Amino acid sequence: MSTATPRMKITYATLSADNEELQLSFDAAVERARANLGNTYPMLIGNEERTGTETFDDRSPIDTDLVVARFPVGTRTDVCDAINAARAAYPAWRDTPWGERLAILRRAADLISERQFDYAALMTLEVGKNRLEALGDVEETADLLRYYGDEFEKADGFVKPLGSLSPMERTRSVLRPYGVFGVISPFNFPMALAGGPSGGAMIAGNTVVLKPSSDAPLSGWKFGEALRDAGLPDGVFNLVTGPGETVGAELQENPGIDGMVFTGSYEVGMKLHRSFTQDYPRPIITEMGGKNPAIVMRSADLDEAAEGVMRSAFGFDGQKCSANSRVYVDREVARAFVDKLVEKARGITVGDPTERDTWMGPVINQRALDTFTKAADDARSDGGTIEIGGEVLRDGDTERGFYPTPTVVTGLPLEHRLFRDELFVPFLVIGEVDSLEQALHEANDSAYGLTAGIFSRDESEVTLFLNTIQAGVVYVNRRAGATTGAWPGIQSFGGWKGSGSSGKSGLGPYYVQQFMREQSQTVIGDEGPPIL
Ligand code: NAD
Repeated sequence: MSTATPRMKITYATLSADNEELQLSFDAAVERARANLGNTYPMLIGNEERTGTETFDDRSPIDTDLVVARFPVGTRTDVCDAINAARAAYPAWRDTPWGERLAILRRAADLISERQFDYAALMTLEVGKNRLEALGDVEETADLLRYYGDEFEKADGFVKPLGSLSPMERTRSVLRPYGVFGVISPFNFPMALAGGPSGGAMIAGNTVVLKPSSDAPLSGWKFGEALRDAGLPDGVFNLVTGPGETVGAELQENPGIDGMVFTGSYEVGMKLHRSFTQDYPRPIITEMGGKNPAIVMRSADLDEAAEGVMRSAFGFDGQKCSANSRVYVDREVARAFVDKLVEKARGITVGDPTERDTWMGPVINQRALDTFTKAADDARSDGGTIEIGGEVLRDGDTERGFYPTPTVVTGLPLEHRLFRDELFVPFLVIGEVDSLEQALHEANDSAYGLTAGIFSRDESEVTLFLNTIQAGVVYVNRRAGATTGAWPGIQSFGGWKGSGSSGKSGLGPYYVQQFMREQSQTVIGDEGPPIL
């Protein structure tokens, strides 16, 4: 692992990386990664590295001939063993002074930062992110651990003195961990969304069983590697790989799981949300999909709007939960805006994301490519105009991968399914509106409520937008991304409506508390355990 590289902080709002040293460091990391592909990794269960009897291939969407890694097909028994290991480790971890817990997780954060290039290169090969996106994902993971740790520390471990009705009475409120959290993570932020929820749970004193996406298990595994190298005690973090239908299902059904964090699609998340609390209440945080709108008013700086929309619609191929997938533009400026956007989309380099100049790599799998193709077909047959894109690259280097082109569609009715359904591919629909009120009505007429953006120079429009839009994360005039690019401690990130269940966002100041429940402690007299 390289530890000597001088570090420039990469976030999702980093627009370019002219830093030659950074580029060369990433290239070297890709070479190291390529030299180590195809290894079989074990599951992490207590102090055991378990290989299992059957494995699956973690193939690269860049070139499906490339097996990035092999992982065990975990079974329900493996999950039960991981839960038992987590239960066994729980009391000691809970009773570890929180300063010591934080020290271990901060050490892990530093290791992740030190290994940023190697972890990011593997992630690029595993899921097809370009280098800035992959470096951002890794650094976000480290910053999530740091941020949640800092919040925990700022709150002094969430112990608060309360009042007393007599001089003999000592009282306090204490937030205490639940026990064992299951974490189910998606492919698209494969380290940050495995590491952030797991980190929040562990900082609060819980132990964890992680099931990473089968499209991106290696990034989850590397997070576990950093924890182990930071000295996390055995059993505090466990990792079981395999299908959602068995490994994920056992996690949600097993009574040994006290709480759950799921990040992924609405369909899976809602089912899980219902079934997890079927027999008795258990905390569950579900962070789900989005159909994120941007609104462009006539007062907008159209270049800024086109740039912000382009970055959010096509960054990581539209495979961010926050991706901008529909635009409502003031009819008056619609053509000018679309022309600018198309010009910017034309400048996007699509191809192998390990290459320095590639901005858009492949989508994650054949299913995603099929979704893209079907959307383009539907747009054509339903009277839409494909302003740019709508095609799949299938030549030379892209032949064995999944490479859609950035696509902009106009002319569809606003009630068309392409304005409603989350597609999770680089496919943007644009509708014309006559007023901000109409734009807001359309924007809010959605089952989702994750992110949204507006471009306007009119203060009253911005105020109306902020007061009316139904979304957990909103941006105004953001060139770096109309609806994307949240960072720990800078933008809290969580969904409203069908996009999220808890009303408390990740990356923000109310997150870590969700992994704890309140206990009110009253001790009469001077005897007994120390209390404030
Ligand atoms: P997905 O729902 O297909 O899978 C997510 C995880 O759930 C994977 O680990 C998968 O194996 C597991 N899973 C699948 N079936 C399961 C079952 N029956 N029981 C338990 N677990 C099961 O999602 P994905 O394709 O990996 O990710 C993309 C989706 O995630 C998009 O909808 C995106 O908007 C959403 N997402 C949301 C956020 C957010 O913060 N709101 C962040 C990232 C991604």
